[in-house]
Amino acid sequence: PSALREGFATRPDVSWDNVGSLEAVREEMMMAVVEPIRRPEMFTSLGLNAPSGVLLYGPPGCGKTLLARAVAAESGANFISVKGPELLSKYVGDSELAVRKVFARARSSSPCVIFFDELDALAPRRGGKGGESGASERVVNMLLTEMDGFSERKQVFLVAATNRPDIIDPAMLRPGRLDKLVYVPLPDQRGRASILKTLIRNVKIAEDVDTEAVSASPKCEGFSGADLQSVIRTAGERALRERLKDEEIDGIGTGLFIRRKHFDQALELVL
Ligand code: ATP
Repeated sequence: PSALREGFATRPDVSWDNVGSLEAVREEMMMAVVEPIRRPEMFTSLGLNAPSGVLLYGPPGCGKTLLARAVAAESGANFISVKGPELLSKYVGDSELAVRKVFARARSSSPCVIFFDELDALAPRRGGKGGESGASERVVNMLLTEMDGFSERKQVFLVAATNRPDIIDPAMLRPGRLDKLVYVPLPDQRGRASILKTLIRNVKIAEDVDTEAVSASPKCEGFSGADLQSVIRTAGERALRERLKDEEIDGIGTGLFIRRKHFDQALELVL
């Protein structure tokens, strides 16, 4: 279904409760997007300009997409998600038109957050080498034109994400464009514990599971939120497998929970 929603306005079903750790980033996003959408008059009464766009950058799997969706949901805005490479490949030769359509759609469903994922694919530094640079140059120019219509662009907010801020066309990052750069870091141990707690909110977990201990395990060192999600998925599969095996043996099986041993097994399996 996510493919169908690509490029169309939706209402994401996540909130801050789904985002673990990242307190400082959440705070920045509140001020940059959520509050301006919720209470625009407070900003204008203090002479604060409608903020422009936010560029989230940092290692993969650390919650950039999740943050963008939560920001839209928390502000009660519509959400349009566009993946850089998909926009380029789906609309070969027509990428500029596709960009214009995205902004037009956002204006007609405002308040709206447009999320450009993998922005580096869509807006690489212009004047690069290779035959494709002509096409992407036109796309970058179109993005710049649309972004500079920010003053007329009532209640349309831009959030973009990249792992490679260094290869993005610098013009994209000038004042009035994606001028707020927010780093989304890999979690430390406390961050991992917070993310684990967030991710197991709706999962049946046995009492012998200690999320602090899991987050402090040397195996988890350097894990992203996406990696932790994968640990939980693997642990859940182990629990399910064991239960099914038990049922085969005695027809009953134990309670269906993820236990400590399943996490231990998962940590052995996930690289
Ligand atoms: P990429 O650069 O690969 O697109 P990303 O930074 O956009 O990655 P997300 O897609 O937001 O990462 O994260 C992937 C998944 O990892 C999320 O759907 C969620 O399950 C989990 N996750 C990552 N970070 C967090 C977090 N801070 N809190 C809760 N879950 C998280």
